[in-house]
Amino acid sequence: MDYVIVGSGIYGSLVAWELAQAGAGVQVLEADQTAAGASGGIGKRGVRANGRDVRELPLMRMAYERWPSLHEELGGETGFVRCGHLQLIERDRDYLEVEARLWLQRTHGIETELLQADQVHAQEPALNPDIQAALFCPLDGVADHTATTLSAAEAARQAGADIRTGFSVAEIQQSSGRATGVITTDGEEFSADRGVILLSNSSVPHLLQASLGLYLPVWSRYPQVIITGAIPGVTLNHLIGHAHRRLAMKNGPDGSIMISGGWLGKAGPNGRGRPVTDQVAGNWQEAVAVLPGLADATIAAVQADRLESQSVDHIPIIDHAPGLDNLYYATGWSGHGWAIAPAVSRLLAEWILSGRKPEALEPFRFSRF
Ligand SMILES: Cc1cc2nc3c(=O)[nH]c(=O)nc-3n(C[C@H](O)[C@H](O)[C@H](O)COP(=O)(O)OP(=O)(O)OC[C@H]3O[C@@H](n4cnc5c(N)ncnc54)[C@H](O)[C@@H]3O)c2cc1C
Repeated sequence: MDYVIVGSGIYGSLVAWELAQAGAGVQVLEADQTAAGASGGIGKRGVRANGRDVRELPLMRMAYERWPSLHEELGGETGFVRCGHLQLIERDRDYLEVEARLWLQRTHGIETELLQADQVHAQEPALNPDIQAALFCPLDGVADHTATTLSAAEAARQAGADIRTGFSVAEIQQSSGRATGVITTDGEEFSADRGVILLSNSSVPHLLQASLGLYLPVWSRYPQVIITGAIPGVTLNHLIGHAHRRLAMKNGPDGSIMISGGWLGKAGPNGRGRPVTDQVAGNWQEAVAVLPGLADATIAAVQADRLESQSVDHIPIIDHAPGLDNLYYATGWSGHGWAIAPAVSRLLAEWILSGRKPEALEPFRFSRF
């Protein structure tokens, strides 16, 4: 094979698709099954530029262009809906920061408006009347992450990639300054003539440390998601974030609301994460404060089962390994790697195929540390 890709989440699947479409021979090795990690699970994922790190805004501008037609490119569902994102403001002292962010996002070509209270409440009548204003990005939206990842993997297969599930990579093989393949935990070897690409999210730091002794300042977390029961009359028209509360909300399945925002579960006995009582209570309290109709709602599901990689400066590391130019990796998504995936995957594939690193990936190099 030309390339071995480790991991079949959204990144492994999209990069496999891009490379296979360009005529390369691609072997994907997935320890579990496609979408078994952060790119799968309940609910939907936010596709948001609003409030994003400045270094990721150029990627979001590119991703904005791709999301609406990605289902056509892949020939499968993505569930993308351009509903817009509201970052809510409840305190006077947050205005100056929000105005600065308005300027920043517009400067980077991200369509953004500052909505006053009457405009916000006209668009979202169920919100607490204390909400004073909101930063609004109309091009933001939500996507069905599981459906998109399965569509990307199927598109990669159709383009000729070989995706094998149940193959856990333990080691990277190297010779004369080149990555030459990988070895699985069962001792099976897969050779790569042109390159090895580590897109296994939380396991990337472990693989780099075990094979090269390279330490990345990245660790793993289990982000929590709450799905409410159906609440008649309580609905949202936008993806919701908040200027000072740890809160994200969106419409869930069957009249429910999906609540998240960076609250965390902890490792469970089977290698999966599980929810923790105080984190569920904290997230719920924030949600009720903003959407009072939730006070009467039940909790239908709480999950914190999906591992996500967190980097020390909250943006990913996307690079090749020092001394092994054909060993590429991307990790440290820090809870917001979904939205930019169509942009990053294409740029990464361009880099791998051409040998020239796209400028938009420069801020994510390891040497920034
Ligand atoms: C609950 C939750 C909510 C989120 N919300 C948002 C959001 O609203 N917006 C946003 O932009 N982002 C969000 N994110 C982040 C986003 O989902 C992730 O950044 C993104 O899905 C990462 O994709 P990935 O392909 O790198 O990783 P993953 O989907 O985790 O895929 C990695 C794959 O590698 C496999 N693997 C691991 N180790 C090995 C090995 N040794 N050998 C072979 N295979 C291996 C795993 O089984 C897995 O399938 C959220 C994440 C979570 C968990």
